[in-house]
Amino acid sequence: MEKVVIIRYAEIHLKGKNRGYFEHVFSINLEKSLKGIRHELHRLSGRWLVANFEEELAEEIAERISRVFGVQSYSIGFQVGSSMDEIFAAVKCVAPASGTFKVVTHRGYKKYPLTSMEVSAAIGGRLLSENPALKVDVHEPEHTVYVDIRENDTALVFGSYEPGVGGMPVGTGGKGLLMISGGIDSPVAGYMMAKRGLTVELLHFHSYPYTNEGAKEKVVTLAKILSQYSLVVKLTTVSVTHIQEEIHAKCAAELNVTLLRRFMFRIAERFAKREGMQCLITGESLGQVASQTIEGMTSSNAVVTLPVLRPLVGFDKDEIIERAKKIGTFETSIMPFEDCCTVFLPEHPATRPKLSFIEGEEGKLEVEALVEEALKTAEKIFF
Ligand code: ATP
Ligand code: MG
Repeated sequence: MEKVVIIRYAEIHLKGKNRGYFEHVFSINLEKSLKGIRHELHRLSGRWLVANFEEELAEEIAERISRVFGVQSYSIGFQVGSSMDEIFAAVKCVAPASGTFKVVTHRGYKKYPLTSMEVSAAIGGRLLSENPALKVDVHEPEHTVYVDIRENDTALVFGSYEPGVGGMPVGTGGKGLLMISGGIDSPVAGYMMAKRGLTVELLHFHSYPYTNEGAKEKVVTLAKILSQYSLVVKLTTVSVTHIQEEIHAKCAAELNVTLLRRFMFRIAERFAKREGMQCLITGESLGQVASQTIEGMTSSNAVVTLPVLRPLVGFDKDEIIERAKKIGTFETSIMPFEDCCTVFLPEHPATRPKLSFIEGEEGKLEVEALVEEALKTAEKIFF
């Protein structure tokens, strides 16, 4: 009897001709998530099996698998020979001590001498006769014991289906650059796009010395949490200090935020293109703050050609917070550190700035030189 983790995948089976590719990437991602743990990963029809690991590590393995996109559900269980005695020995390990139960049998191996119903009945009967505290309830049991009889004389036995995170394997949807602040929204936006298969790299703007090292540490912590799902290990930081000083000194105060955001988009796009990324991702949500109006988004989009993905655009703050808590980024995001957007924040930022006004004010700056100068401050952090 060997302890195993059984993994079932989500949408991959829909992908017709590309299926082989999706499954290949999914396998690689499973392997990456299990880095550092001795194991074997086997492909069965319609599922994967993690085997040959130290039994005490089963929970840790399940925990890591629970964060891999593409996993629909997983179970910790046992792989045994397909004789009824061997199956029953494993069933005893996953069966409840008391309460109502039923046995559900699935036969991948159709030539097995007993039908699924016969296996369930025989296993259920033996459990009942050994443990009088159990009772069968086929309609609404408190516990279900699953027996999956497979080809090559083996069976899988497990006691539950744990829901996975769903989504598509990271890497099957192209590459995007997440503009990540230390706030609540952008990490959630990155999570959502990685969930749809994008490889997400991270770019953070700081205004050192106006913002401090703590702000950067916070983003690194967020990046580490995200990397558990997205399997991405690179964060780049860029200084926008000089840009902010220039805007502050030369342009209309109410446009501070608008102009800074246009610089951020330009820098992000140039960086993304150099690094072979195909889109930008932000945590913007319509109407959430002064700059997140249609006019604000139009003014930022006007300076880039790459698509800008805003997965949170239709979400309420409550909904975003709920997701951040589930993902595990919320506690870090609410730690108080200054973001560069709050430096030089005008009292009344423009909510519906006209493009002609924006362009006029921006004309007072050496845009191209400032963008290139900022890109030279890029620092890559691997974790
Ligand atoms: P968040 O919660 O993600 O900080 P927010 O509600 O504070 O978002 P803004 O400050 O207007 O909103 O920022 C909107 C988006 O712009 C962010 O979600 C993020 O994608 C990007 N952004 C803002 N500040 C930075 C920064 N310092 N570095 C990189 N991207 C940033
Ligand atoms: Mg913010």
